[in-house]
Amino acid sequence: MSDPIYDRVALIGLGLIASSMALAMRRDGLAGEIVGTARSAETRDTARALGLCDRVVDTAEAAVRGADLVVLCTPVGAMGELAARIAPLLDPGATLSDVGSVKRAVVDALQPHLPAGVHLIPAHPLAGTEQSGPQAGFAELFRNRWCLMTPAPDIDPTALARYRRLWDAMGARTDLMDPDHHDLVLAVTSHAPHLIAYTMVGVADDLRRVTDTEVINYSAAGFRDFTRIAASDPTMWRDVFLANRDATLDILGRFTEELFALQRAIRTGDGEMLHDYFTRTRAIRRGIIEAGQDTAAPDFGRVPTVP
Ligand code: NAP
Repeated sequence: MSDPIYDRVALIGLGLIASSMALAMRRDGLAGEIVGTARSAETRDTARALGLCDRVVDTAEAAVRGADLVVLCTPVGAMGELAARIAPLLDPGATLSDVGSVKRAVVDALQPHLPAGVHLIPAHPLAGTEQSGPQAGFAELFRNRWCLMTPAPDIDPTALARYRRLWDAMGARTDLMDPDHHDLVLAVTSHAPHLIAYTMVGVADDLRRVTDTEVINYSAAGFRDFTRIAASDPTMWRDVFLANRDATLDILGRFTEELFALQRAIRTGDGEMLHDYFTRTRAIRRGIIEAGQDTAAPDFGRVPTVP
């Protein structure tokens, strides 16, 4: 057990990310007290039953009182309104953060409400699963994953170092980024791929009407991994695309151009082009494994199951 890094942490929203944070903080005694709240009574009751927080309260206003760290863990679209409600209640010296998957829109929504003396350190842990809700969390979620932080350049260095220490202690690696750059990088690595997965699953769903259960029965040949991504929370992803519109549309435009080039290669029988292309993409997978961001085991290390 280490000494607590914060005396009172308030988690607003108690889904996958907040519950994982709560479990990781409790495991190592990183917070003197964890206070949580969520929108619905059902989620608050589940969090109480799971013992995620020291206290679960009914409103965001009650949760943030006396907190030296407040983390917004709701879908991105809810953060501006929440900030307007809680910001006047924050103590000078407190840190306000969030875990949203988009950063420019969140900075723009939070900054205007920030009282003097409160440190705004937006963050994005690059860790998650397709599951959501308070029961989905686990303390190891952030282990060896990056947490990108996008504070303004004039952020108080002591407040920043303290917040980085919390994420380090939860197992993450932290880095700093400009919010616009973050959104472009994530449009490539996460947002556009999610949209493509959603589209492919939608196409297959249409087809299923023609081919009955074949799409489900024979899904192991690549499609299954799309279905996992496309099972992600609809509210969260609606908000991600609306909040990161420009970067996502930019990347999708480039994606469409590449798709047309591959389409033409297939139509004209240009095997050399296809082979070169797939050789290049295979090297990217190797790079991810070498960077310790995924397993080298075949099929992501899945154990074959007999239905
Ligand atoms: P989640 O499991 O769907 O949980 C969202 C939580 O926010 C729920 O407890 C929900 O309460 C609460 N909430 C929604 N609107 C609220 C409001 N107006 N006031 C108070 N609470 C509210 O979400 P998550 O997966 O943890 O994602 C949370 C944030 O982390 C999102 O911004 C997402 O972009 C980001 N993120 C997600 C992932 C991922 O893979 N899932 C990864 C990195 C970052 P109710 O249950 O009562 O509705």
